[in-house]
Amino acid sequence: MTGSMPTYLGMPAFPRAAKSAVADSQLRRNLTHATTAIRTKRGRAVAELDDWEELRQAAKAIKDHTLAHLDTYLVRLEENVTRAGGHVHWAGGAAEANEIVTNLVRQAGADKIVKVKSMATQETGLNEALEAAGIAAIETDLAELIVQLGHDRPSHILVPAIHRNRAEIGELFRRTMPGAPADLTDDPPRLAAAARAHLRHEFLNATVGMSGANFAVADTGSLVVVESEGNGRMCLTLPRTLISVVGVEKVLPSWQDLEVFLALLPRSSTAERMNPYTTIWSGVTPGDGPQDFHLVLLDNGRTDTLADATGRQALRCIRCSACLNVCPVYERTGGHAYGSPYPGPIGAILSPQLRGVDSPIDASLPFASSLCGACYEVCPVAINIPEVLVEQRARSVESQKHLSERAVFAASGYVLRSPRRLAAAQRAASFGRRLAGPGARGGRIRRLPPPLSAWTDTRDAPAPPPESFRAWWARTRGTGG
Ligand code: SF4
Repeated sequence: MTGSMPTYLGMPAFPRAAKSAVADSQLRRNLTHATTAIRTKRGRAVAELDDWEELRQAAKAIKDHTLAHLDTYLVRLEENVTRAGGHVHWAGGAAEANEIVTNLVRQAGADKIVKVKSMATQETGLNEALEAAGIAAIETDLAELIVQLGHDRPSHILVPAIHRNRAEIGELFRRTMPGAPADLTDDPPRLAAAARAHLRHEFLNATVGMSGANFAVADTGSLVVVESEGNGRMCLTLPRTLISVVGVEKVLPSWQDLEVFLALLPRSSTAERMNPYTTIWSGVTPGDGPQDFHLVLLDNGRTDTLADATGRQALRCIRCSACLNVCPVYERTGGHAYGSPYPGPIGAILSPQLRGVDSPIDASLPFASSLCGACYEVCPVAINIPEVLVEQRARSVESQKHLSERAVFAASGYVLRSPRRLAAAQRAASFGRRLAGPGARGGRIRRLPPPLSAWTDTRDAPAPPPESFRAWWARTRGTGG
């Protein structure tokens, strides 16, 4: 079932969306600074483990096995969550998931919820759906809070406000955060303290908490959230009702499998040996934590993705964001241009599969890569992103979306099939070079007419040589070609 991401509807194609980001020097400075720092730290953390590659291959094998038997493990997860006192709901698409959550919040009698960072609910546009139903959703992850206060969109999986620097955040807090001190500076400890005071009030008054999950263990019906700030622990333990929206691909068979991922994820994402907070819960425990627990299992295009033999590897993703931090395209454009909660290399292959390729942004995403392969090298679950990109590009061309490219290749084929036509084309090209005149300075053509201008808009084209090889051969050896 193909899903939708309502909050990103109407985005232009990637090249247009990226244009302003590439021209924004402040944004590029912020991005380069942040990605370089995370990339370097990650490299050091990974190098500490001799068996990193073995762990990586084990994680790949576990995910592939689980995805191949997804029906079995999801049913097992449902049985065990239910046995532990939770309730399981199945959502085919974004609208259905949002409706289930809205009804659950209403049943709990709440008009406000506190949220742990959750990509699945960004994907479904839950906050907007709740707002339309008169329910306020408070993001409690610091970076998500910054994004929410700025009526912005996340631009990185792990650091959603990576495009903001601290001066911008200080100004935003003073202007928008309830209770922020008027003399708040952009000193990071003071910014963190202001956010903490604001969020503490929300945590203590919330009756409904909302989360995603990094993993779901089928054997015991346990959900796992890993995080760094402790806001997750508050959301997951303080409110009376807890609702978790989780993509179906997050299930793992057993705790032994979980062990592999808990070794890989912190080093790949925050470059830590172990993440500061790992919260695991199984249903409800009388007198301890939420007494009403609901798990919403979300498809939203995942089962369609599973049917694609090459593309399904994207479902192995554990959202560590390592591929973003090494991507030369992401470093220059930032995340907004990808038009999805999933930016960077993983977004380029995942969003078109989850949403289909009908919109300009989704049709353009497989081309938002240099195919350098750095994303594949760092991926802790060995997703061969370039392989998927190449296949998606081929499909895009096949589906005739790139008519001008098809026309150029058809014309080339026609010319190359006949020596006479080739000779005529070469004479025409030499003549064209003379016509191009000053436009072909230094052996490069700066501007070609449409539709070939799509090439010269962003790069030069080599000018045809003044004389073809055939003409040179005929002139110097006295024979025709
Ligand atoms: S594709 Fe791999 S590197 Fe990128 S976010 Fe997913 S798991 Fe991490």
